Amino acid sequence: MRVRVGARTDIGRSRDHNEDGYLVREPLFAVADGMGGHRGGEVASSVALESLAQLPKESDGLLRALVDRIREANRMVLERGESDPELRGMGTTLTALVTQEQKAHVAHVGDSRAYLLRDGSLQQLTEDHSLVQRMVREGKLTPEQAGRHPQRSILTRALGVDAEVAVDELTLPLLAGDRLLLCTDGLTGMIDPDRIHEILESERDPQAASDLLVEEANGAGGDDNITVVVVDFEDAPGGAGGDGAVAASTQRQSMAPGDPVGAKGAGAPSAEVTGVISAASTEEGAEAEPAPRRRRWWRLVLWAAVVALLIAGGLFAGRAYIRSQWYVGVAEGQVAIYRGIPTDAFGYELSGVEESTDLPAAEVLRLQPWQGLEEGITANGLADARQVVQQIRLDLEEAP
Ligand code: MG
Repeated sequence: MRVRVGARTDIGRSRDHNEDGYLVREPLFAVADGMGGHRGGEVASSVALESLAQLPKESDGLLRALVDRIREANRMVLERGESDPELRGMGTTLTALVTQEQKAHVAHVGDSRAYLLRDGSLQQLTEDHSLVQRMVREGKLTPEQAGRHPQRSILTRALGVDAEVAVDELTLPLLAGDRLLLCTDGLTGMIDPDRIHEILESERDPQAASDLLVEEANGAGGDDNITVVVVDFEDAPGGAGGDGAVAASTQRQSMAPGDPVGAKGAGAPSAEVTGVISAASTEEGAEAEPAPRRRRWWRLVLWAAVVALLIAGGLFAGRAYIRSQWYVGVAEGQVAIYRGIPTDAFGYELSGVEESTDLPAAEVLRLQPWQGLEEGITANGLADARQVVQQIRLDLEEAP
């Protein structure tokens, strides 16, 4: 099959470094979104992409090799972060695609994404490793709420955080006419999937589609660095099976000095093109406040990981404590008995309904003694909570 590629990375409208990067090295394609203070984010994404670029082009188990390569990239980012105090705590997402014969292998960590456009429909191939995505899966947020959630950047998985990382993987058969999109959250956080779908449908040239996606994300605010790679698979005219020609071009691509993944001749169409670091960083703006902001952001990621572990793992005494607490509150407009504590951590509920009732909360809230119902009325165990409900029922019956 013939492959045509477009790619672009852009600093966006509000950051003064581009910490994203991409790799286009037929048959391997990837995007990475780095994070960390100082220049940590840039270093993390480029270290990961450089490591990934060492994937052998031919291998029997290419998906296996790809996943192993990502695990190695994880260790490289972690080691680099541990060896340099300025880079401590850096991390990166990585979403990678490698094609082999008529198949595409996708491997993924973080909240960058892969999409497949086939026969006029757009399908997201990856699941974000983010706190909001976990809440969507658990029915606590709708996808629309997640897209606007202030903590949507908090990751539950990234490269460079732990010695081992779980890598999501999938393989799909390729058909002529397929278009794959790899992108960072600077795109998906700014424009919704329907608009991405429209652009991918209407702009047939992969580079023009990449440019338009970036322009629209900037037009919508450009809050973050934006990176897209568009890969088209077409019938090779007269070609049989194997990898066809690669047409790749990038805009605004540049390399860090001495970068081993070096592009050959900046700007020229090439089979090996990378855009690990954007040239567009404005040094004039470098004294603005983004570094502390990024550090705080990264600390939030760590906190989120702690909270997620606490909740998901159930390994801590905190969970036993939470499970031992009871209160009476409101669920779907009615009085209900909850187990847990009436609060949340980053929007993550620390309680659940244990028993619901038929008592309408709106009427109960009109009764003076029960005005704290919405905040939750603490009880000493289930029996006590039932007692509270019974008292509410009596008061309601006696109310004028
Ligand atoms: Mg980003």
